[in-house]
Amino acid sequence: MKFCSACGSPVEVRIPDDGDHLPRHVCTVCKTIHYINPKIIVGVIPEAADGRVLMCRRDIEPRKGKWTFPAGFMELGETSSQGAAREGMEESGAVIEVQDLLCVISVTYVSQVYVIHRGRLPEGAGFGPTSESSEVRLMAEDEIPWQEIAFPTIYQSLRYFFADRAAGLCDFHALDLTQRPSREAQAEITSWLAEAKG
Ligand SMILES: [Zn+2]
Repeated sequence: MKFCSACGSPVEVRIPDDGDHLPRHVCTVCKTIHYINPKIIVGVIPEAADGRVLMCRRDIEPRKGKWTFPAGFMELGETSSQGAAREGMEESGAVIEVQDLLCVISVTYVSQVYVIHRGRLPEGAGFGPTSESSEVRLMAEDEIPWQEIAFPTIYQSLRYFFADRAAGLCDFHALDLTQRPSREAQAEITSWLAEAKG
């Protein structure tokens, strides 16, 4: 940020005088403090009656071509459930019944917070490719392309979902990701999962 969105004057980065402890963008003229806070991503894992989950292949950057369940930036004025349902429609074309919270994942290295719900894909609900997804498919657990998942948060959420379901639980999980997982760590988890299943 270079200019004040309130008056158009230049901003400077400094710690405000009001007892704050972090540098902020402060207007040099009207003194407005422009706070920059983490972004919230809302999402839902839609489960069909037969236990398969609805997955979308991203047709937009970043991670175009990789797989995810519906998730995206929360909009002003909506709840996490409403946002997740909206993302479901935008990315899969499906009307999804958003249910309880599966997990909240703080990702400090990109200043994002993921709020992920469980959900239900009603019997007979239509779905298909959209402007954001080149492919939309129902997948059983053993069809999930673990090597081709778009983001670590999506990967981790799916792991929580299937582990809970196998254990007959509907737990809530809180996770902090403070370092970008290395490719090695990701590969290790993937091979562990493959072994656990075999
Ligand atoms: Zn200003």
